[in-house]
Amino acid sequence: MPICPSVSKRPQADLVVVPFFKTKKGTDPAVHLPDLKGAINPILKAGDFNAKEGASMLAYLSGSTEKRLLLLGLGEEESCTMETLRRSYGAAMKRCQGKKWVNVNFVLPKHVKQLDTQDITRAVSEGIALSSYVYDRWKSKEGKRPFYVKKATLVGAKDAKIGKKTLKILTGVNLARDLINGNALDITPETFVAESKKIAQKFSSVKASALNKKQLEKEKMGLLLAVGSGSRVDPALVILEYSGAPEKKDLTMVVGKGITFDTGGVNLKPTNFIEDMRVDMGGAAAAIGFIQAAASIKLKANIVVLVPTTENAMDALSYKPGDVYRAHSGKTVEIINTDAEGRLILADALSYGQKRFSPDRIIDMATLTGAIVMALGEVRAGLFSNHEKLAKICEKAGEVTGERVWRMPLDPEYKSLMQSDIADIRNLGKKRIAGSITAAIFLQEFIQKKTPWIHLDIAGTAFLDSPKDYHLSRASGLGVRLLIELLEHLHAP
Ligand SMILES: [Zn+2]
Repeated sequence: MPICPSVSKRPQADLVVVPFFKTKKGTDPAVHLPDLKGAINPILKAGDFNAKEGASMLAYLSGSTEKRLLLLGLGEEESCTMETLRRSYGAAMKRCQGKKWVNVNFVLPKHVKQLDTQDITRAVSEGIALSSYVYDRWKSKEGKRPFYVKKATLVGAKDAKIGKKTLKILTGVNLARDLINGNALDITPETFVAESKKIAQKFSSVKASALNKKQLEKEKMGLLLAVGSGSRVDPALVILEYSGAPEKKDLTMVVGKGITFDTGGVNLKPTNFIEDMRVDMGGAAAAIGFIQAAASIKLKANIVVLVPTTENAMDALSYKPGDVYRAHSGKTVEIINTDAEGRLILADALSYGQKRFSPDRIIDMATLTGAIVMALGEVRAGLFSNHEKLAKICEKAGEVTGERVWRMPLDPEYKSLMQSDIADIRNLGKKRIAGSITAAIFLQEFIQKKTPWIHLDIAGTAFLDSPKDYHLSRASGLGVRLLIELLEHLHAP
C-alpha cells in the first residue's frame, strides 16, 4: 500500500476519498485540501452531506488530480475509534467495488482526538485491506465484479511500514477466509495438510508435518479417531512449527478446531442448522492463517500450531451416542451427543501437544458452541481462561484489532454438569444450560494445571450471517489479527 505524506503532492487517481467529521453545527473536513475547497464548500453549504459514520457522497471534479471525489463520514470526532476508521474506509472501499475506480487516493484524517498518527494509519489501512476481499469464485461471468481497486494510496500517512505490515497480515486473514468460504467437499483434512506444506515451502522459519490415521492410532488419539470414524476422508493432526525467536525457549501452542463439515453425526443436525456447517473448521483456518501472517511479518515468537481435523459425518461406521471412548490422555469420555465433537478432537490435540511440546501457554480457537452465539452474537467471541494476565492481554488485543472478546466464567461449580456415571467425564452438560461454559470446562480437563490457557469460542464470529462492515464475504478470518496482536504485546521488549 503506497503512501504519500503530502496531501498537495498526491498522485493522479480515479478517485479521492476525503474524510469528514459530524459536528454540532454541521460537517467539518477532517483534513484540509486547498485544491478541493471549490468542490467541497458548495456541498457543505447546501447541507446535503451529514458525515454520519460510513456515509458517503460522490461528486465529479474537473481539472483536478482526480476525476472524482468521495466525501466520507466518520461520525463525531469524540467517538471516532480505530474501529470507526476501519468501518468507514471499509465502506468507501465497498463503494469502489465493481466501479472503474481502480486507482484511489485515500486521504487520512489529519487528527483524531484519542488516536495517534500510527493508530490512524493502521486503522485506515486495515479497513481498506480487509474490505478488498471478495469471494466470487462461484459466480458466473456476469456476477463477477469487472473492476477492483488495484492501487490504494494512503495520502497523509507518514510511515510506509504500517501499510506494508497490514498487507502481510492480510495474506493470513484471506487464507483463513478462503478456507472457510470454500466448499466442504473441497476443504478436507487433506487440504489442511497441503496448505501447511505450502506455507512451509514459502517460509524457511516454518516446518510442517502431519499425523495420518495410522499414526493417530499409534498415538491412541481415541477421540479424534472416534469423531472421524464415519468420514470419507481420513482424519489427521496437522502440525506447523514456527521459529521466530530461536534464541528463546518460550513457546506458544495454538490449537484450531478443524471439523471440515459437521453433520452432527448420528445426532444429525436439522434443517436450518446444518447449512453453514462448513464453517466448523473456522478455528483451524484462523490458526493456519495466523502462522502464515506471523511468518510474513517475522513475528518474534516461537509458535506451534496443531490442527486436529476430520469430517463429522453420518455413516454406518460413525461413533455412537451412549458409547465410551478413551482419550489420548487416558481419560474416558461418555458420548452423550455426537454433535459435541469439537471438544473431543481438541482434547486429543491439547494433550498430545502438551506432552510433545511442553508449551509455555496454550490458545485454542474453535467454532465450538451454539450457546456462545446465543450469548454474544456476532459482535464478540467468547474468551475463557485460567490465567488473569493472559486473558487481560487478549481482551486488550481484541479492542485494538476490533476482533473483540468477552470473558466468560470457568467456576468449578460448573464441573458437576459434566459428571458421567460410567466414564470419567461426559461430552455434553447434564441440563441444557451454560453450554459454552461446560464445553470450556470439558477442554480444561485436558489442560495441565499450571499452563496458562485461553479458549476462544468463535462460533458466532467466524462466519457472519451476512457480509458486514469491512467483511464483504461471510468468513471474517477472525482470530488471525487478534493472535498477532496478542503475541506482539506478549513479546514486546
Ligand atoms: Zn457439532
